[in-house]
Amino acid sequence: MGSHLDTVIDAGIYDGCYGVLSGLEVIETLKSAGFVPARAVAVATFTNEEGVRYAPDMMGSLVYAGGLSVEEALATVSTDGSILGRELQRIGYDGSEKPGFRKPHAYIELHIEQGPVLEREGVPIGAVQNVQGISWQRVIIEGDANHAGTTPMSMRRDAGHAAARVVAFLRDRARNSNTPTVATVGCMSFEPNVINVIPSRATFTVDLRDPDEQRLQAEERAIAAYLNELATAEGVTISVERLARFEPVTFDETIVHLVEEAASKRGLASKRMTSGAGHDAQMIARIAPSAMVFVPSIGGISHSPREYTPDADLVSGANILLDVVTRLAAR
Ligand SMILES: [Zn+2]
Repeated sequence: MGSHLDTVIDAGIYDGCYGVLSGLEVIETLKSAGFVPARAVAVATFTNEEGVRYAPDMMGSLVYAGGLSVEEALATVSTDGSILGRELQRIGYDGSEKPGFRKPHAYIELHIEQGPVLEREGVPIGAVQNVQGISWQRVIIEGDANHAGTTPMSMRRDAGHAAARVVAFLRDRARNSNTPTVATVGCMSFEPNVINVIPSRATFTVDLRDPDEQRLQAEERAIAAYLNELATAEGVTISVERLARFEPVTFDETIVHLVEEAASKRGLASKRMTSGAGHDAQMIARIAPSAMVFVPSIGGISHSPREYTPDADLVSGANILLDVVTRLAAR
């Protein structure tokens, strides 16, 4: 079991901590019940899941899964110039033991949903079956700045208009696709950004997410093809830069099923879900069968002091963790 204790600035109290504390509670409960596991049961608290000061995020679990060496991780330099290893020494968290890096038999992470779905549908337990892949790109469209009053509509190379067409294209395509694809243009700027001048340049980002890698690639090809078409149709020049790319992760079907079974035995409704956010479990999934349990986030709010999950839901989630760990540790 595991999760993380680090958090973002002005965060809530549930993201990460809930999974770690519930893991400890599960062990205490198993001990007091006299349960003798067939294999070791442990709780991990992974360093630097959020990646606020030191990139990449999910760093501790990435190291554990062998995707980054301990030395590299400790040498990471922050944007403030500090070094992770030195900071851990300074606060007394630089452990002396060499980590064992034992491959777990299984890994399960309990976490708040950080989204609105469970609350909206009145379902207390999410059986998380996958984490969607993410594709980030920056697009720059270049046209001609010219007078907004004297340039006929037919004679414009309007970078702003072309950018707006991309926004509409992405939304229409995602909405009409009947797939879980989500597409977002979250940043955009125009130059010269003046009321009576046709924009000569538009810079914007594209955030594409999908739980299916083939479909995510197809979406990337579709936007690329559309940008080509647009360049010809609008007489603009378009360049694209890739900013980030993570493939989707599929969790272990057996464990996901154990979560559903545990919920139904306790009379709790459950729902199969895709995690829209990244989690340590997706790194551990590289080396061991893994899955996650979600509980509702009121208002879908997270990374905010207003983050909240009612006690009853917290207890339900911890009980599911207990049941699943009991099954996994007994087999
Ligand atoms: Zn988290």
